[in-house]
Amino acid sequence: MAFHSGFVCILGLPNAGKSTLLNALVGEKLAIISPKPQTTRNRILGVINSGGGKRKPKGQVILIDTPGVHTPDSSLGRKMMSEVRDALEGSHLILLIVDVAARHNPVDPLVLDVVTKAKTPAFLLLNKIDLLRGNKEKLLPLMERFREAHSFRQTIPISARKREGLDLLLGKIIEALPEGPHYFDSDQLTDQPLRFMVAEAIREQIMFATSEELPYTTSVVVEEFKEEPRLTRIAAVIYCEREGQKRILVGKGGSMLKKIGTAARLQIEKMVDTKVYLELFVKVVPNWRDSGHFVDELDWRSQLNRLAGKGS
Ligand code: GDP
Ligand code: MG
Repeated sequence: MAFHSGFVCILGLPNAGKSTLLNALVGEKLAIISPKPQTTRNRILGVINSGGGKRKPKGQVILIDTPGVHTPDSSLGRKMMSEVRDALEGSHLILLIVDVAARHNPVDPLVLDVVTKAKTPAFLLLNKIDLLRGNKEKLLPLMERFREAHSFRQTIPISARKREGLDLLLGKIIEALPEGPHYFDSDQLTDQPLRFMVAEAIREQIMFATSEELPYTTSVVVEEFKEEPRLTRIAAVIYCEREGQKRILVGKGGSMLKKIGTAARLQIEKMVDTKVYLELFVKVVPNWRDSGHFVDELDWRSQLNRLAGKGS
C-alpha cells in the first residue's frame, strides 16, 4: 500500500484545544496546556507514524500546533501570529478546531479568513463534544453555519481530552495526504530542543499558579542545563515586566517561587529521566512583550539560526 505523508497545521481560536489534540494524537506531552487563552506561543511540531494494518493506510503525519488566531496588540502577539503563518506555509492540510461548548461564537470570521486565504484543504473538528453530554443534535446548526462559510473536506466531532473520534480522524488525515517520503526518523517525535521543553514546563506551572495578567507577562529562559549521570542541573530565569509582578512571583518568603519550582521539577524529572536540581531566578524587563528584539531572543528557532551564523 502507498505511503502517505505530509504537514498538517492545527488552527483555531485560543483555547479551542489545539495543544490537547497534538498531545493526544502523538501520545506524548509535547505542548503545554492550560485553561487560560494564549498558552502556546510558538509553533510546535509533533510526528505520528501510522504503521498501517488491514484497513488503516500507512503514513507519517507531521502535525503543527500553533498559537491561537487573534488580533495582536504587542510584539509578542505579532510574533505568535507569524508562527501561525509559518506553520500554514507548505502545509498539506489544515485542521480547523473549534470549541463547541464555548460561550463565544465559534464561527469566527478572523479564523475563517485565514483558512480561506490559505487555499489548503481543511477539515473542521468539532471539539469538546464530551461537554455536550449526549445533546449531539446541538451540533447540527453549528455544522450548517460552517458549511455556509467554507467548503470543508470533512467535518468530524471529537473530544481531544477524552480521545474520542481520534482514530477516525487520523485515518482521514492520512487518506487526505499525498504520497510522500518519511520526513522524520520514526523514533523522532518532535524538533523541539529539550531546553525549550523544560522552559515551557516551567511556564506551564506559572500559568497554573498565578492569575490575572501574570501568565501573559512572563516568559522563561533556561540559562544552564548540565547533564550528569544521575542528576540534571538546570537554572532558569523567569522574566516579568514590573517589580510588583516580581513580588507576586517570588511570594512571601519565596513561597510562590518554591511552589512553581517544585511542580516544574516533578514534570522535568519525567522528561529527562534523572533527578533534577532546579534553580529559578526572577528578573524584570519592563514591557518585554513590546520589544521585538527580546521576543526574538526567546524563540529557540532564531537562537539556533544565530548559533549557526545565519543571523536572524
Ligand atoms: P489551545 O489554546 O487551543 O492550545 O487549547 P488547550 O489545548 O491549551 O486547551 C484549552 C483548555 O481546553 C484546557 O483546559 C483543556 O484541558 C481543555 N480541553 C481541550 N480539549 C478538550 C476536550 O475535548 N474536552 C474538554 N472538556 N476540554 C478540553
Ligand atoms: Mg495551545
